[in-house]
Amino acid sequence: MKKPKQKPNRKTVRMNEVEEIETLNSWIDSQKPDSGTNPLSFPPLDKKAPVGRIGESEFSAYAGSTRFDQLPISRRTKNGLKEAGFVKMTDIQRAALPHSLCGRDILGAAKTGSGKTLAFVIPILEKLYRERWGPEDGVGSIIISPTRELADQLFDVLKAVGKYHNFSAGLLIGGRKDVDTEKERVNELNILVCTPGRLLQHMDETPNFECSQLQVLVLDEADRILDVGFKKTLNAIVSQLPRHRQTFLFSATQTKSVQDLARLSLKDPEYLSVHEESVTATPNHLQQTAMIVPLDQKLDMLWSFIKAHLNSKILVFLSSCKQVKFVFEAFKKLRPGMPLKCLHGRMKQQRRMGIYSQFCEERSVLFSTDVASRGLDFNKAVDWVVQVDCPEDAASYIHRVGRTARYNSGGRSVLFLMPSEMKMLENLREAKIPIQFTKANTKRLQPVSGLLSALLVKYPDMQQLAQRAFITYIRSIHIQKDKEVFDVMKLSIDEFSASLGLPMTPKIRFLNQKMKEKKLLERPPVLELENDDEDASAIPKEELLIDDSIEDKVEKDILLTKDNEYEGKASLIEDIIPATRILKKKKLKINVHRPVGTRVVFDEEGNTLPPLAMVADPKSGNFPLDPDQKSEYYRKLREDMKRADKEDKLLDRQRRREKRVKQKMKWKKGDMEEEDEDGLSGSEEGMEHGRRKRSKIYFDSGSDNDNDNEDGETKENKTSKDSKGDSITLEEQEALALKLLNSLHS
Ligand code: ADP
Ligand code: MG
Repeated sequence: MKKPKQKPNRKTVRMNEVEEIETLNSWIDSQKPDSGTNPLSFPPLDKKAPVGRIGESEFSAYAGSTRFDQLPISRRTKNGLKEAGFVKMTDIQRAALPHSLCGRDILGAAKTGSGKTLAFVIPILEKLYRERWGPEDGVGSIIISPTRELADQLFDVLKAVGKYHNFSAGLLIGGRKDVDTEKERVNELNILVCTPGRLLQHMDETPNFECSQLQVLVLDEADRILDVGFKKTLNAIVSQLPRHRQTFLFSATQTKSVQDLARLSLKDPEYLSVHEESVTATPNHLQQTAMIVPLDQKLDMLWSFIKAHLNSKILVFLSSCKQVKFVFEAFKKLRPGMPLKCLHGRMKQQRRMGIYSQFCEERSVLFSTDVASRGLDFNKAVDWVVQVDCPEDAASYIHRVGRTARYNSGGRSVLFLMPSEMKMLENLREAKIPIQFTKANTKRLQPVSGLLSALLVKYPDMQQLAQRAFITYIRSIHIQKDKEVFDVMKLSIDEFSASLGLPMTPKIRFLNQKMKEKKLLERPPVLELENDDEDASAIPKEELLIDDSIEDKVEKDILLTKDNEYEGKASLIEDIIPATRILKKKKLKINVHRPVGTRVVFDEEGNTLPPLAMVADPKSGNFPLDPDQKSEYYRKLREDMKRADKEDKLLDRQRRREKRVKQKMKWKKGDMEEEDEDGLSGSEEGMEHGRRKRSKIYFDSGSDNDNDNEDGETKENKTSKDSKGDSITLEEQEALALKLLNSLHS
């Protein structure tokens, strides 16, 4: 009979551990690859060659390993990897692990979906294991992620691979209410996976929280975390960390900025860019397409796309939370025939997580801001990434499309470009992105603008969402840095507004101002001809869009709509677009410079007298000729004026106060577009620390006035005052009074 296997006692386990660690240390030390080498270029190790100790004090080489079990890593980690199904290493893992295991800092760049996570999770576990890190040692490693969802995902990988280790690990992300419980427990944790804001919050608020023993710091999506948005937060964090530590920076679009590296005090980091020689910057299994879609046809195109791909998992990127909210709510009401979801930075954390995991599980469309653009590995592959709004640069594009075609799977992406954004195509190609350009066949479009305007009538809330989506989109273009791609002046504002179903174009103050400036600047000298050649928006739409002969394969696939011919679109739009109000009210002006000597004075009989006749006639007695009396008369006059002036000022102040109150009421009602609460690029808590100053945009959709400088209300006040004829300002009154006095003197 077989003896039941005895569980090894604690002492034996510890002895075995000590032995294993000693072996690992000697192995790692004796076979270190040279600094500056890329282990990928080493001949791959033979699968059957002995691994580990191969003689008295000899060990197998590990640079050149192709499988995890050839690496000098602990049994516990090997078991965790095996159980999670990881056997062969990916390129970035092969390149980075030999260096990171022997204690070097790493700057790792590899395409999206190429397995960067394991390239930093394994060395963390190994470092702490070999240091025999225990609960009393506190924080040994920190992994920083730009978004909460990514942090959650990294935490899952850590839990899976570290399953057989005894470290405690915690997920510290913003938006959770249990910060107090976290505070109680955070000092016991060995590995922290966190977003920058929450980590800093603990550093600032949690008593006794300290990281002075930190061994390994990781910045996943490093270029994003080193970005301005997180700058203050990250600097504050790093200032509280020990300088002597190992640091890993990973991203698909890596920073090489010396300043960034200095900020993190990296020591001779190994720069491992495994796909630098690659012809493309994006995964090989990714099929990418770009096509021209004018702003006012984006929703038609998106709707048609969804209708044509009802069996796919689609991730749609829009530029702001408000865009996402509107498109999601509107399309949901129009029922495209598949589940729709939305994800953005303004959602409650619990809901955000719920949506994220639902999208991992089922086929659906997820409308999202850039909050979902970094690092996320949706469990069951995403079939399509659709970029409705142009990404801000090539790096942002790479991360968005990187949500599909992960690891060895395939994927497809489509980018909508407006005619004015064509320069982006050049930028993408320069960044080694193989993107196919195709012309959209508008005949296959299913217009939704009409349906949207009906929807907006039926649901008044939708109208507000649409207005906000409209304004934030325009603003998102306005604040883009790359002016060669993003030109707010080239947007067809009225058509865009109508395409959202809005009955009238909301007024955008800064835009009106800009247009005025542009008009002034562009007013051509009399004999010079106007040249619009470079303005893509000046090319007739038909030329850019409708080209039935150039239907290629991809295009057919994108818009495989059989029925619903694109008919009557133009007339539809004309129906919706309100006639732009061109009626300009004439401003009533009071001419303060009009001659003052024309005042008419009547005598007792009703006859007119010359204006200064009273002064000339000493008998009238109205005006003192005696010098003393005269100065007394002037003094009185001045006093009267002063009093009147005081009263006027008081009145004016009161009027202003009333106006302010009215304005506030209007704001409260939501008439005023509140901006920036939506974080155009999916803000995370790092942003909260360095919140940007708000710049305001006013719009008043209900106003009939076509007035550039005033909102509707002000204008109304002004005109009503004007019509009463008493609206001269204080300065004007003073000017008048002075002229009168002067004339009396003369
Ligand atoms: P990246 O961070 O480079 O974008 P991830 O680390 O998220 O990529 O990995 C992408 C996908 O590849 C994940 O689903 C992960 O489980 C899988 N993966 C990573 N490394 C391996 C490996 N060695 N073998 C098999 N699958 C892997
Ligand atoms: Mg990643």
